[in-house]
Amino acid sequence: MQGVEEEEEEKTLVWWDISSCPIPTGYDPCLVGPRIVSAWRSYRMSGPITITAIGRLTHHPNAPDNDVLRKLSSSGISLIHANELQSDLFDWVELNPPPANILLISGPKELESLARTLYRLDSEGYTIFLAYPQREPAPAWLWKSFLSGVYKEWLWTSLLTDEMGSCSEDEDKCSQTGESPTWSCTLCAFSAQSFEDFTTHLKSKQHAHAVSIIYQYI
Ligand SMILES: [Zn+2]
Repeated sequence: MQGVEEEEEEKTLVWWDISSCPIPTGYDPCLVGPRIVSAWRSYRMSGPITITAIGRLTHHPNAPDNDVLRKLSSSGISLIHANELQSDLFDWVELNPPPANILLISGPKELESLARTLYRLDSEGYTIFLAYPQREPAPAWLWKSFLSGVYKEWLWTSLLTDEMGSCSEDEDKCSQTGESPTWSCTLCAFSAQSFEDFTTHLKSKQHAHAVSIIYQYI
């Protein structure tokens, strides 16, 4: 954690389901973190931001390759290999009591399954924001009930096309989140010490075995 002087400002957790809302084809992975931060800053001011990309980082059609993971990590985005978002979200909530902001970036199916959780978090004092890849991300009744407290929504592509320079023009932008990234695999209860440590784990037999067991049950 950095920025002692920021301790009293509201924290923001960006929870990005990279499996259901992947990086658009041809988009520079290096820009994802800085663009999210830039869009957030232009809308919602300061305060520490943590961006976490969570999802199936291996054994999935949308799994990002090593180069993409490296670029995300070097721009300050934490990486979690997990089959579902909920338990890790609860872990964060436990460590970060309200008031705090949660920006969920996910596909429509995942949004639907998390709607009740978001409703609960909203009633507990968290401010909920959403981004998703297409319009009509959830049935109307969900918007009228469990998602009624959502503060603001973005389309994923418009969040990413916020105007700013590229990483190559200004390398400092790669660390804009102000947090050091972390790397973990929920499936194997593994926390890595470095990016290399993490990718070694993702390629390990232990990880492949854990994935194969989980896949038998989903
Ligand atoms: Zn693993």
